[in-house]
Amino acid sequence: MKIGFIGLGIMGKPMVKNLLKAGHEILVFDIVQSHVDSVLEFGAKEASSPAEVAKECGLVITMLPNSPHVKTVVLGENGVLEGAKEGMILIDMSSIAPQASQEIAKACAEKRVKMLDAPVSGGEPKAVDGTLSIMVGGDKDLFERVKDILLTMGSSAVYCGKVGAGNTTKLANQVIVAANIAALSEALMLAKKSGVDPNLVFDAIQGGLAGSTVMNAKAPMMLSGNYQPGFKIDLHIKDLNNAIETGHTVGSPLPLTAAVMEMMINLRADGLGQEDHSAISKYYEKLTGSTIR
Ligand code: NAD
Repeated sequence: MKIGFIGLGIMGKPMVKNLLKAGHEILVFDIVQSHVDSVLEFGAKEASSPAEVAKECGLVITMLPNSPHVKTVVLGENGVLEGAKEGMILIDMSSIAPQASQEIAKACAEKRVKMLDAPVSGGEPKAVDGTLSIMVGGDKDLFERVKDILLTMGSSAVYCGKVGAGNTTKLANQVIVAANIAALSEALMLAKKSGVDPNLVFDAIQGGLAGSTVMNAKAPMMLSGNYQPGFKIDLHIKDLNNAIETGHTVGSPLPLTAAVMEMMINLRADGLGQEDHSAISKYYEKLTGSTIR
C-alpha cells in the first residue's frame, strides 16, 4: 500500500526514513520545502497538497504540531478529506487535544474515512532508531490491521481505547515528563548552590529510585549546556495547555502541571521557546543567578 505522510519536522522526517527502509512507497507533503527535500533524497515522492496525498494513498499519516494544524490539513481547503476515497485510513500521530481527535474522527466518518489517533513518546532519538512508544485510540480491529506499519516506527504500539484515548495517554506522559524535568532542574541547582558537583549527583543517583529515562536523557543536556531540540519548549507548552483544558473538562486538577507550564511560559517570554524542554533548568538559573553547568 502506498503511504502518505504529512508533516516532516523533527519527528516526521526520521519516521518517513524508517517507513522507506521497511520498503514502503511514501508520498509526502509539508509547507516547508526544505523539509520535503530532506526526505526526497531517501526515495520519498512529493505531493502538492494534502488532498493529492489522500487521492493517491490508502493510508495517510499526519505528524503535525497541534490540533489547529491537523484540522487545517485534514478538514481544510485542499485537505485530506477533499482527496480521500471511501475506506482510506488516517493515522494522526501528532500530539493534539483528545477532543480535537474526536472532532476530526467524526468528520472523517462522514466521508467513510477511518481514523486512529496514535501519538508517540520517545523524542527524536527514538524516532531515528524506530523505537518510539506509540499509544493508540480508535477502532481496535483497525489498530490490529495497521499495527505492523506502526511497529516500523516504534518498538511498542499499545491500544488505549476509543478515539482520543491515544492523546489522553500522551497528555499523561507529558505531565509526567514536565514535572520530572522541573524536579531534576530544581535538584541539580540545589546541589550546585550547596557546593556539590551536579555531575557527581547525577552519577550517584541515576541508578537509584530517582533515576529515570527523563533523567538519563535530560541531565547530560543541562550539565553540558546543550539545549538543542529535541522537544521544544513551545511544543511542551502546547501539550500542558491541552492537559489543563482536558483536566478542566473532566474535573481532574493539575496543580503541578500548571506550575511547570508557567515556568515554560516565562522561558518563552525570554525567547527560549525553540530550545529543548531541558532548558527548564534556565528558569532556576535565572532565579539563582548561577548555572548548573
Ligand atoms: P516540528 O515543528 O519539528 O514539525 C512539524 C512539521 O509540520 C513541520 O515540518 C511543519 O512545516 C509541518 N507543518 C505545519 N503545518 C503544516 C501544514 N498546514 N501542512 C503541512 N505541514 C505542516 O514538530 P515535531 O517535533 O516533529 O513534532 C510533531 C508532533 O509530534 C507534535 O505534535 C509534537 O508534540 C509531537 N512529538 C514530538 C516529539 C519531539 O521530541 N520532537 C516527541 C514526541 C511527540
